[in-house]
Amino acid sequence: MRFARKPTSSRHRPSSSVVYVLGLLLPQRCLVCAVGGVPLCAACRARLPPLRPPLCARCGAPTAWPVARCRECAGRRLAFASARAALRYDEDVRRLVRAWKEQGQRGLADDAAAIVAERLARPAAQLVTFVPPDPGRRQARGYHPAQRLAEALARRWQLPYQPLLRRSGPSRRQRGLSLAERRRNVRGAFRAAAARGTIVLVDDVYTSGATADAAASALRAAGARRVEVVTFARAIRGAQ
Ligand SMILES: [Zn+2]
Ligand SMILES: [Zn+2]
Repeated sequence: MRFARKPTSSRHRPSSSVVYVLGLLLPQRCLVCAVGGVPLCAACRARLPPLRPPLCARCGAPTAWPVARCRECAGRRLAFASARAALRYDEDVRRLVRAWKEQGQRGLADDAAAIVAERLARPAAQLVTFVPPDPGRRQARGYHPAQRLAEALARRWQLPYQPLLRRSGPSRRQRGLSLAERRRNVRGAFRAAAARGTIVLVDDVYTSGATADAAASALRAAGARRVEVVTFARAIRGAQ
């Protein structure tokens, strides 16, 4: 019997804890193409779509030429100074991130950190922290990709790592909400421990920027001078 780790329809999905236990017992397969051996095979890794300049200096959206602000972020008050991502959030990356969340693939955090460190310059920062997960999201129990990625990146960049943020209450799922609703939904969703200097804020995916903005806002309110957002992947508006 073969278990291909292709996404199944939501009606037939087993619970995340069952998927997690299966993930521990079954031979490892590439989360993108299901070839046996490793969580991300060399061929799929080489095909992951990079996010290359020119970019918006602020929000990291790809642009026709370098700009300080782009159509996506112009006029928005953003609490972070910059947002950068290693990859475009395309179908393969989406599959990879979903499996990473649901199956808690520990080996993948190092691969993801290596991909980010290859593609993004080491930030001039004092500390690396992460965006805590929305409690309503499906994920393997106790395993948070953003946290593992932050820890692995801090090791690679030789920066201190510290969890600074927590969710201050339940918020609705962001998926399916408009940008204005997303911003309202996450406003005030985070509390931060005392912070200072420049903080690298790590998340798995940058979608609308609303979550990164709310988390950065809590860090700034707690004393951080500057927040630089780093994500594994970034959704490109108009490309999905
Ligand atoms: Zn593969
Ligand atoms: Zn922008």
